[in-house]
Amino acid sequence: MERPQFVIEASEVESMAKKSGLSILQLLPSLVKTAQKLARPPISKYHVGAVGLSSDGRIFLGVNLEFPGLPLHHSVHAEQFLITNIAINGETNTQLKYIAVSSAPCGHCRQFLQEIRSASDIQILITSTENEGDNQDNVFRPISHFLPYRFGPDDLLGKDVPLLLEPHHNGLILNDNGNIPNSNPQNLCNGIADSEASQEEIELKFAALEAANRSHAPYSGCPSGVALMDLEGKIYKGSYMESAAYNPSLGPVQAALVGYLASGGGDGYDKIVVGVLVEKEGAVVRQEGTARLLLNSVSPQCDFRVFNCNSGSNNCKKPSS
Ligand SMILES: [Zn+2]
Repeated sequence: MERPQFVIEASEVESMAKKSGLSILQLLPSLVKTAQKLARPPISKYHVGAVGLSSDGRIFLGVNLEFPGLPLHHSVHAEQFLITNIAINGETNTQLKYIAVSSAPCGHCRQFLQEIRSASDIQILITSTENEGDNQDNVFRPISHFLPYRFGPDDLLGKDVPLLLEPHHNGLILNDNGNIPNSNPQNLCNGIADSEASQEEIELKFAALEAANRSHAPYSGCPSGVALMDLEGKIYKGSYMESAAYNPSLGPVQAALVGYLASGGGDGYDKIVVGVLVEKEGAVVRQEGTARLLLNSVSPQCDFRVFNCNSGSNNCKKPSS
């Protein structure tokens, strides 16, 4: 079976539009049903699909994810999936311009989208209103139409703080320097680790550290990242992303699960065998307990490890002795 495609390259977008006789903007709503089929909502059975067009002409898909056995706040909304997909698979500074979505974005998603710079300009079309005889709604409208009195990053942060989908360099280093001689990530490629297990652990640790360094956590100052590995040894990264309104924040395991699915990771999550979390020691906002709970729930055999990092102010390059 063909793997579901969550990212469509710009050249393919153009040829799809040409083939179907649609403009690229008309193509977006035409893909919403395809996206909805990829959703995983075993609790609500309500499939939400979001199709986004980015500034570089690529199309990104987003779907809702629900996790039976856990409280509902673990769920991932389709718009959050879409943003996370762009954060993981987009180029630096890829911007989101248009979204076609199967039903009206909920308040939680309208809020989450505020973390993007110039969010109010993102244009949204809701496809569920297409056939209801109300042609007024079958158009793209800016988010400011859906959320006119916004509370967002501007209320809490300085203008220079990077927002979602902008480059983040949190400057974190592992407390144990990754346990690699000379602490040089290049050693990963040079077979320095003496066993396969430790090689794997080092790769995962650095993948999780990289995700933590890209994490958007300006409100708590507690960035974190997760790396998951599947049975084939493939690694998927996810960065914790905060919202100015706190509750719509997306955890690092959820983000990594988006990465797993968007890369065609498989039908279920049970192929995930190792998960690594990197977060700050003594962080005010800690992910460990929740991350363990979610991973254990979606893939009970998954081995979960946690490593602490710090903001690297001492910039020590040698393992402590
Ligand atoms: Zn939502």
